[in-house]
Amino acid sequence: MVLSDIEIANSVTMKPIEEIAESIGIDKEDLSLYGKYKAKISNIKELDGKDNGKLILVTAITPTPAGEGKTTTSVGLVDALTAIGKKAVIALREPSLGPVFGVKGGAAGGGYAQVVPMEDINLHFTGDFHAIGAANNLLAALLDNHIHQGNTLQIDSRKITWKRVVDMNDRQLRHIVDGLQGRVNGVPREDGFDITVASEIMAILCLANDITDLKNKLRNIIVAYNFDGEPVTAGDLKAEGALTALLKDAIQPNIVQTLEHAPAFIHGGPFANIAHGCNSVLATKLALKYADYAVTEAGFGADLGAEKFIDIKCRLANLKPDAVVLVATIRALKMHGGVKKNELGTENVAAVMDGIPNLAKHLKNITEVYGMPTVVAINKFPTDTPAEIAAVEEACEKLGVSVVLSDVWGKGSEGGKELAEKVVALAEEPNHFSYVYDLEDSIEDKLNKIVQKVYGGKGVELAPSAKKGLKELERLGFGNYPICMAKTQYSFSDDATLIGAPKDFTVTIRNLKVSAGAGFIVALTGAVMTMPGLPKSPAAERIDVDAKGNITGLF
Ligand code: ADP
Ligand code: MG
Repeated sequence: MVLSDIEIANSVTMKPIEEIAESIGIDKEDLSLYGKYKAKISNIKELDGKDNGKLILVTAITPTPAGEGKTTTSVGLVDALTAIGKKAVIALREPSLGPVFGVKGGAAGGGYAQVVPMEDINLHFTGDFHAIGAANNLLAALLDNHIHQGNTLQIDSRKITWKRVVDMNDRQLRHIVDGLQGRVNGVPREDGFDITVASEIMAILCLANDITDLKNKLRNIIVAYNFDGEPVTAGDLKAEGALTALLKDAIQPNIVQTLEHAPAFIHGGPFANIAHGCNSVLATKLALKYADYAVTEAGFGADLGAEKFIDIKCRLANLKPDAVVLVATIRALKMHGGVKKNELGTENVAAVMDGIPNLAKHLKNITEVYGMPTVVAINKFPTDTPAEIAAVEEACEKLGVSVVLSDVWGKGSEGGKELAEKVVALAEEPNHFSYVYDLEDSIEDKLNKIVQKVYGGKGVELAPSAKKGLKELERLGFGNYPICMAKTQYSFSDDATLIGAPKDFTVTIRNLKVSAGAGFIVALTGAVMTMPGLPKSPAAERIDVDAKGNITGLF
């Protein structure tokens, strides 16, 4: 019988979190306990004066809607590294409630490669997302109150860029009109909600080095434009102090454990489209300080997640990965070979082979553009057949890259030892780490470099609104910011139906906006959803709790 994720998670006896922290040298005095199995690192004094471990980035080929198993592979890899005697820690994003109750489900790994307590991690955890939501909404309240109280900043209510947030998939709130019912009830205007993980404050928390840096970044958030078209910031509203107060604990990284008791820093979870899609800089740095191997994941495929990890996060935080694991699945390769979603369970070696160009393009990007040693990990699914696996192994050999079958979902660390050995060896290899573009390049050059070097397209085409936006951003002095591409994760191009490794396409930039606090320019390609909706049959319908408080249906 195949056990569900939650059944597996509940079958393991967790160790007290102080013990887990102590195993890598974190003193219990430096922890704030949230019950027995969760804690925040409240004192991060150790960051100075310790050598860094190796940074291992886990990324993937172009995914299917269900996800390819980056989190699962990352968790299993840490357990496997530990099993072969290495001191390893994982740094991951915190899950959002939206997907937990929607389609995709939790984000705490799967099978025998999970982080626990998975119910807590997937639900309220240590309250970080609630704090971020509160800070975001305080800023919105201060903004509307300013207008109500006489609007000395001359804010143009038609040019308000700051939205309220809630951590839920709730399409009903995407576009609303608020401030109705007369003078005392505010100033009527068009408004809307985003999901909490899409808040710029989430991105800021994840890029901040410490409380002072957090406050500075919050101060720079642009919330609106005034009647002269000049930006109005959170600093203009005198908001940064109160926002920082709300976030004072949320900025501290959380520590939990894997099923095999390796430490896991789970902290922050920005969107991977309009933001950079990886856990906090603090969690990654902490992992590097305390472990010899810090394994971390970047959202979506390597065209988006890894590119932003390198060009935004690594650049801003001065990090440098030592090796990359490229996760591939037989089912995603089949999809790139043209197989329909409902036929992915049937053996089809020819389709697997037809999907290889997608893998090959990602590989070329990682080794030649980003310049890092790479291993392909085939994340083994129960439906994969030996012939299909052999086909991928053969193709990788032809491409000159090492490939390992990873069965951490089915077997835990035992299924990942070969991958762990390979990663240890790779991390010693020469590394030609490089960014895709220079910050000094013009905005258009940066966009073209991403499209040409990483996506394999001809270049970008700027829609009239994007051309206008570009001039405006340069005028306001944001020309040297890195680019955060908001593009479909299902294709190298901006057209989700172009599977495999398309060529000769142009990417249309519809608009450009700045996240001035987080410190990047967001390039919007297609329609980007910042408030998802629930599906016809939401996962929420299958979640329940018994009389003793045991949750079922959480995958
Ligand atoms: P990603 O991080 O790439 O989005 P996840 O690791 O979260 O992917 O996995 C997505 C889903 O697929 C999870 O529900 C997980 O349990 C499941 N999954 C991952 N790997 C396997 C596998 N090898 N076999 C079966 N299910 C898997
Ligand atoms: Mg993931």
